[in-house]
Amino acid sequence: MPEYLYIHIPFCVGKCLYCDFLSIPFDEALAERYVNALCGEMAMRKDSAGTLRTIYIGGGTPSILSDKLFSTLFACLKANFLFSSSAEITVEANPGTMSGSAVRHMASLGVNRISMGAQSFDDDELRTLGRIHSSREAILSAGLIRESGFENFSLDLMYGIPGQTITTWRETLSQAVSLRPKHISAYELTPEPGTRLYELIGSGRLVMPDEDSIMEMLDAGLERLSSYGYEHYEISNYALPGYRCQHNLNYWDRGKYIGLGAGAHSFSKDIRSQNLGDITGYIECLERSELPLEKSAPIGPEEAMREMIFLGLRKTEGMALHTLAASGLDIPGCCADLLDEGYLRIKGNSLCFTQKGLAISNELLVRIFGRLGL
Ligand code: SF4
Repeated sequence: MPEYLYIHIPFCVGKCLYCDFLSIPFDEALAERYVNALCGEMAMRKDSAGTLRTIYIGGGTPSILSDKLFSTLFACLKANFLFSSSAEITVEANPGTMSGSAVRHMASLGVNRISMGAQSFDDDELRTLGRIHSSREAILSAGLIRESGFENFSLDLMYGIPGQTITTWRETLSQAVSLRPKHISAYELTPEPGTRLYELIGSGRLVMPDEDSIMEMLDAGLERLSSYGYEHYEISNYALPGYRCQHNLNYWDRGKYIGLGAGAHSFSKDIRSQNLGDITGYIECLERSELPLEKSAPIGPEEAMREMIFLGLRKTEGMALHTLAASGLDIPGCCADLLDEGYLRIKGNSLCFTQKGLAISNELLVRIFGRLGL
């Protein structure tokens, strides 16, 4: 049974211009109904999870919930699930939605990891992204997290922001490491269709950095974070030794998980399912004591192999050669040119992308799938 649990909290102060996540503006009364619905879903699905190794409360902006709603959420979690004594319990937070007492309250409930969306420490870039906070607020929030006893916290950063330069990105990296997070995620900004940012770029009002600049930022991130002891363990993720995100590692290992909340996905026994993405629909379904399932489908063998490769090669340690061989996937044989050209390499008993390969991994995966006939 899955031992990894995700809970989606779909509320934020406002909508960032690049956001295509499931989130709506916060409304106290709706949030209360939503948390009650989550408790209902926990009660209905409590027998479909094993002893939990991780709980990840993501969003949205979970830190927007009041102490009272957090208490309710954790009381329901404890009433319905068993946790391992060393469970990693993460809450996503955003600057501008956290007080010292709220962070201490989370700690008192058993939360032991906070992942904060800083994105940039340049105020112009934060405005371009439509973030609700300044760089100063992000620095203060990181201080609150540390002073509240959270030794394990993570910062999310972004590169490839319109107007960003290699200099401002290096300044953001320097500021980030000076806050001493145990983990840093550095994502390339991808403007998604349907977002305000996509429109602004389409109309020429904002201009993305060119590809060479983005490559330079990727290299600068790796160089700066490695020099401070952060291990690059996944395309966009870095951690000090012992602080890799256990919850996300399970996704990349294609492990089972259970997802609660509007739009949340679950994966177990080669079946992927998804809850209703309509927040009111999700709540009403649970208020009628019905499971809020939107879709559920088995994963066929070819799709399973594509997922295994796509997810496994995201990790810098790559995939075990014996796992590939057991699935009849001879990537070294059919992609010898990618090894010769320095995009893939064999490290010990694993196959992995090189740094050069990770930078264009999507393009390379299309070639690999084509060669394997997947
Ligand atoms: S804080 Fe995150 S989830 Fe909320 S609007 Fe911004 S990007 Fe979207």
